[in-house]
Amino acid sequence: MAKITKSDHWIKFLGTAGARFVMIKQLRASGGLWVRSKDVNVLIDPGPGSLVRCASSRPKLDPTKLNAIILTHRHLDHANDINVMIEAMTEGGFKKRGVVFLPHDAIDEDPVILKHAQSYAGRIETLEPQHQYAVGDFVFETSIALKHPCQTYGLKFNINGTRVAILSDTEYFADIKEHFKTDILIVNVVFFEPMPGIQHLSFADVKIIVKDIKPRKVILTHFGRTMLKARPHELARMLSWETGIDVVAATDGMTEVF
Ligand SMILES: [Zn+2]
Ligand SMILES: [Zn+2]
Repeated sequence: MAKITKSDHWIKFLGTAGARFVMIKQLRASGGLWVRSKDVNVLIDPGPGSLVRCASSRPKLDPTKLNAIILTHRHLDHANDINVMIEAMTEGGFKKRGVVFLPHDAIDEDPVILKHAQSYAGRIETLEPQHQYAVGDFVFETSIALKHPCQTYGLKFNINGTRVAILSDTEYFADIKEHFKTDILIVNVVFFEPMPGIQHLSFADVKIIVKDIKPRKVILTHFGRTMLKARPHELARMLSWETGIDVVAATDGMTEVF
């Protein structure tokens, strides 16, 4: 608790579940990431239980303090709690405020945000590849489009002088190394072994990415069943030995302070 209150710059993992089974069984929580950058609070990918995780965090995270919510894509493990979080951010819709960022296909035809909640948000902005967006002093950039069944973007931002990149759900492709050069890489690793035809990263893919990019630190998250079975902590330790890079496996409630 002391750790989190000392700094105005941190990222808290409100969940580390990846894909359907781990989410449905809640083997790991699926609340997304809360980013605090000085005075700006941003929630990324509020999956099922995001609101509950905010309330049960120690110290509590107050969603009425949110300035923005970002969805990397429309899948339920990333977007399920978007409506209730908008309602919380806007104090039940009484205070029209906050920005919601999401890909076109999350809002155009089959919106993940109900009409009434759309009207609560101060602003809704659709994401384009390799664009910059600002929420107060917090500036973030989308990556090139990731390879996933719906429009999906990675996110890059600076937090207290440290470059952070979030590599969201995608299959492996060679350009990842060019577009995710960063100090701290947060990477969604769903499968232990590669699963050809399913557009998610495996641990083997992540090894290649880490060796190519050589970030200062790597945080593995968004674990599927096979990753949990293979013990993410041990895999992270092995990858650290292999590469000399600080690799950790995220846990629910973990906070990275900057
Ligand atoms: Zn996912
Ligand atoms: Zn997905």
